[in-house]
Amino acid sequence: MRSILIFLVGINTALAVVPVTHVPNDGEPVEVKSWLVTGPSPSPVLQKKDQKDARRAAYYTGKGIDIGYPRTVQRPDGTLVTVFDFNNHVGKIDGMARVPLNGQDLREVWSTPWKVDITHTVCPTENHLNIDVAHLWPNRLSGDQSSGDGPNIAWTTWNPCKADSPLLESGLRGPVQFVSQESFPMVDYHVHLKGGLSLEEAKTWALAHGLRYGIAQNCGVNFPVTDDTGLREYVEIMRGQGVYVGMQAEGREWVELFSTEAMAQFDYIFTDAMTWRNNEGKRMRLWVKEETVIGEPETFIDMLVDRIVWILDNEPIDIYANPTFLPAELAGRYDELWTTERVDRVISAAVRNGVAIEINAGLKLPKPAFIKRAKKAGATFSFGTNNGGKQDLGNLEYCRQMIDECGLAPADMFVPKPDGQKAIQRKSLPKRKF
Ligand SMILES: [Zn+2]
Repeated sequence: MRSILIFLVGINTALAVVPVTHVPNDGEPVEVKSWLVTGPSPSPVLQKKDQKDARRAAYYTGKGIDIGYPRTVQRPDGTLVTVFDFNNHVGKIDGMARVPLNGQDLREVWSTPWKVDITHTVCPTENHLNIDVAHLWPNRLSGDQSSGDGPNIAWTTWNPCKADSPLLESGLRGPVQFVSQESFPMVDYHVHLKGGLSLEEAKTWALAHGLRYGIAQNCGVNFPVTDDTGLREYVEIMRGQGVYVGMQAEGREWVELFSTEAMAQFDYIFTDAMTWRNNEGKRMRLWVKEETVIGEPETFIDMLVDRIVWILDNEPIDIYANPTFLPAELAGRYDELWTTERVDRVISAAVRNGVAIEINAGLKLPKPAFIKRAKKAGATFSFGTNNGGKQDLGNLEYCRQMIDECGLAPADMFVPKPDGQKAIQRKSLPKRKF
């Protein structure tokens, strides 16, 4: 991926049309030097520039700046990350701004980071971006008290602003950057709307932290969705929301609960190997101490590896989540119990089935040695937090560490498959075994 940086330089720039004719190389900033000001503008800034009514301009309050410029964006591939960055270096807004792109409101910005991600709204050809800035109003209150400035425009029950009060910086202050940047695709495919977390909150968090989200519903016995109707309802709600729509397949029963057609509506399906029946037929959820019978640890972990390999070979999933998880009682012996032979059995099964291995930020699993070995074997990876609510939405800290420590590249990462190539469409549903 390449970098395209476009600086919109200027303090209190008014309505402008900026033709972009040069697509820079990686990291090369392009300064837009000439501003072509067009059309009648309500902006006081324009008047200020022309020295026609500088004082009136200085006192301006309300929506004042409207920058619109059509530009041509070359997208080398479908994964270009484009960030509209208000605040790299010194640029900022004193006030608030609304940023519609191609007629679609992206978000309102009123604090740091002064940044809007336009990746998923930008078109491959011509785009129209506005920045509507609402100015601060103390300047207007001061201006109203100056003689010869017409009738008062603003009114308040208590007015601390005098005619000679110093004017505040107000409006958009450059530079503004339009950035296409080399970036690692930080997608969290394992986010749940639970614990009071709303979709809007999740999206706001993702945007503020430079993440993209896949939001998954838990589907299976004793989970919110247990049939095709529930699947369809969930997809209906989530479609078009700018997030990937994920299905977390629960327990081993899921393969017998839902139809291929209903599941194929999801962007991806993932499961973990934390729920299964042991050789005595006892159903265990490995994170629940009371349900988990361990017995002899070596025998137990061999059984666990058998289950993982069976799941990867037979269940039509795109991602193996919460990988290499061990019950609390054995977690301290992770390095000893996850022998090279066991690790390799799991990795081979993932690779031969085209199943991505989740790097789980919450559990901090798998450990780096596993990830390095899996990368060497040609595995792909996804990132996930498996949040329980709002409080544990993170910044994929562990995943970022693993990118560096294990030398992961964007090409190592899972990308949801197009229709027709999803795991659920490649593999038939098996009969439950464990
Ligand atoms: Zn989950």
